Amino acid sequence: MNFFEDSILWLDAHTHRRTHDKEVFFIRNGYIPKHVTPKPYPVSYGLHPWFVDAEWKTNLEMLETYVETHRPLLIGECGLDRLRGGDFKQQQEAFEQQIQLAQKFQVPVVIHQVRAFEEILHFKKKYPATHFILHGFRGSVEKVKRCLDHHISFSLGASVLSHSPSLHDMIAAIPLSRLLLETDTSSVSIQEIYAAVAEQRKMKIVELQTQTLRNFEQFISHV
Ligand SMILES: [Zn+2]
Repeated sequence: MNFFEDSILWLDAHTHRRTHDKEVFFIRNGYIPKHVTPKPYPVSYGLHPWFVDAEWKTNLEMLETYVETHRPLLIGECGLDRLRGGDFKQQQEAFEQQIQLAQKFQVPVVIHQVRAFEEILHFKKKYPATHFILHGFRGSVEKVKRCLDHHISFSLGASVLSHSPSLHDMIAAIPLSRLLLETDTSSVSIQEIYAAVAEQRKMKIVELQTQTLRNFEQFISHV
């Protein structure tokens, strides 16, 4: 049985806004501790590194209760940010606990990463069974390869619309089986992001739709 209804054509794997387009399956990001209430559409909650503060342990308990009760498809966004947010050591503790939660409930984690690439790899090596999805990813081909070695996947957003050669190389280096697309906080439509990636990969949009929907099904069933 397919996870997606036949009417679904597009997957927006990580977004901060709701869409009413019936052809789009989206997972909306929710921040802990704000708005932790069930919604009539899929939501992934996480403790974002920007909001790791003195209350982080209480907030993580709230997240755990939510995950236990509502069994979301993903946990996050969570992760590490060296340039912004809470104390970096506390960020790492909060991130690790969310990985453990994801491991317990066998769901992937959606990861925000800024200047903390090596630490993300460190945690992936420590928790190899948990599926990491690096969201809003931008990085070198070499970094893509290192992620692939550790079975990390990628979700690409509006940056694919820029015409930088290094970005084209990065997109070309990601195997289609490891790729998701997202709008995140941008106002660009998910359809434009699919069109840009399809053009760069020289493939039909429908093939990219089929592939990303299949990828997501696999990611949520085999962590
Ligand atoms: Zn986001």
